[in-house]
Amino acid sequence: MPNARKIQNLYAYNTHVSFEVFPPKTNQGLKQIYQTIARLKGMSPDFFSVTYGAGGSTAEKSLDIASAITNLAQVTCVAHFTCAHLSRPQVLELLQSLEFHGINNVLALRGDPPQGQGTFVRPQDGFGYASELVAFIREHSKVGILVAGYPEGHMENPDKEDDFRHLVQKVEAGADGIVTQLFFDNRFLVEFKEKLDRAGVQVPLVAGIFPLSNLKQLDRIASMSKNYVPPRLKAGLEKWANDPESMEQFGTDYAIEQVQGLLDLGFRDFHFYTMNRYQQTRNILFALKDYFPRLKFD
Ligand SMILES: Cc1cc2nc3c(=O)[nH]c(=O)nc-3n(C[C@H](O)[C@H](O)[C@H](O)COP(=O)(O)OP(=O)(O)OC[C@H]3O[C@@H](n4cnc5c(N)ncnc54)[C@H](O)[C@@H]3O)c2cc1C
Repeated sequence: MPNARKIQNLYAYNTHVSFEVFPPKTNQGLKQIYQTIARLKGMSPDFFSVTYGAGGSTAEKSLDIASAITNLAQVTCVAHFTCAHLSRPQVLELLQSLEFHGINNVLALRGDPPQGQGTFVRPQDGFGYASELVAFIREHSKVGILVAGYPEGHMENPDKEDDFRHLVQKVEAGADGIVTQLFFDNRFLVEFKEKLDRAGVQVPLVAGIFPLSNLKQLDRIASMSKNYVPPRLKAGLEKWANDPESMEQFGTDYAIEQVQGLLDLGFRDFHFYTMNRYQQTRNILFALKDYFPRLKFD
């Protein structure tokens, strides 16, 4: 199997880059995502990841895209795996389906409740937290397992220390690595890494990088995940409110500076939220190509 590599083996190397894509809503979007994947694949990333809509709303499309990445593009793929809506038998079924398609890695998540449901309710015969899902997957499957980490804390939990302890639980339950929520101020990741070190957590920490290209994205992020937005970032995007090209260039430059800063501090693993677009992520990595000798730029 071409994609039989497991996450835990990937991290034996130096710098790593992965790309996140999401299942689009429209047929036109489907065409775009496959073009994007083909172009991103040309850069030789370590893996792709494919998101899974809240409540399983994109289950079929997510599986189709993850399977195409694995079996047609022949690149390692991590399937996001949320369990907020699933019972234990359904989790097993989904796991088997992924393995049947040769998808050997998951990002194990509790997930958010489906839109309109309000607060999260543990499903019948299901899981209340991602740590329980990780333990269950470990027990029943040999797939590689990543989990989500929140450098600024998860928005549902006002107690940041308690939230951090639950992250450690996910690793103790068997996770092979942590992919972070996006952040726009590197200080959060530095402090997060220090805490992980103090807690003796040794699995790789993968920095989630979101290259901004418009103000709408920033408003959505600020309202959904409540990330801190440095005034310099907001002001820079606002300055170019009527000039989309310059606004995207500003977002690109900001991400270059952010990744460069993290590289200089010794961080080596980066996960790009591509928003199913190619050029901006490519431009960021091209500007930093000396740090990523294994990436290819035609
Ligand atoms: C990299 C990344 C990718 C993502 N991809 C997707 C996706 O594809 N689809 C999607 O729908 N969502 C996705 N999400 C969002 C994620 O599903 C939500 O943030 C969700 O609310 C939490 O999922 P989790 O796995 O982090 O949950 P958990 O780790 O279970 O944490 C959820 C909350 O419960 C608390 N908690 C955990 N364990 C305990 C415990 N034992 N006792 C009490 N409280 C506890 C935590 O502090 C936290 O507030 C992603 C997030 C990230 C960072």
